[in-house]
This record gives sequence, structure tokens and C-alpha cells, in this order.
Amino acid sequence: MCVFCKIVNKEIPAKVVYEDDKVMAFHDINPQAPVHILVIPKEHIPTVNDLEEKHKELIGHIFMVIKKIAKEMGIAESGYRVLVNCNRDGGQEIYHLHFHLLGGAPLGPMVCR
Ligand code: AMP
Ligand code: ZN
Repeated sequence: MCVFCKIVNKEIPAKVVYEDDKVMAFHDINPQAPVHILVIPKEHIPTVNDLEEKHKELIGHIFMVIKKIAKEMGIAESGYRVLVNCNRDGGQEIYHLHFHLLGGAPLGPMVCR
């Protein structure tokens, strides 16, 4: 089982900030900004490449959750970035779809190499 499935199943701990029947959100263990939350579907979907028509509502729901968390974290007005890495060139490390929510400070250029 992948590390994020283990978090969903509460087999490993996480600082959870949001949970419902479809989605979970928790603090990134190695934050890259003052606010760095990961929002994931509970379903194990490895990458964006694995999304299907049936996931359209889920992805829309994830963005509504992101919006809500951004407001709760106090970064809605100052701004934030939502980022999804895919596969090798995207720098994906965990193969369970996740949306990075980053904010709390100016984030610099969009693509860093
Ligand atoms: P990515 O490179 O897009 O696959 O991002 C994976 C992210 O998951 C990284 O930012 C890691 O710091 C984070 N991460 C890895 N393991 C954990 C964990 N157990 N709890 C919270 N975040 C994690
Ligand atoms: Zn998984």
C-alpha cells in the first residue's frame, strides 16, 4: 500500500486539516512554504494520467476543498499556488495523486530548475 493510502487508512499519522468521504488534506512533512498542504483523493489514483471521466466530479470537489482550506489558513487574499507533479519530469515522488497547496509568502517564479 502506498504512503498516502496508509495516511487515508490512519496506519501512519498525518496532521490532517480536512477530511470527508472522498478527500483528505494534511500538512506536507517537508514544507516548501509557510503553508504547504497536500490535498488527496482517498481513492488510489497514481497520476494525472490515470484520471478518467468518472473522476471529473472528484477533481472539481478537490478544488472546492482547496478553496476552503486556503480561506481557513488565511492565505486566500494574499494568494497561493496549487501544483500537481506528474511522473519523472514533473518530479513526482509519491504515486498517489495529490494537489500541493502552497502559500503564506511570495512563492517566486513558477518553474524552478
Ligand atoms: P511529489 O514530489 O509531488 O510527489 O510530492 C510528494 C510530497 O509528499 C513531498 O512534498 C513530500 O514532502 C510529501 N510527503 C512524503 N511523505 C509524507 C508524509 N508521510 N506525510 C506528509 N507528506 C509527505
Ligand atoms: Zn495510494
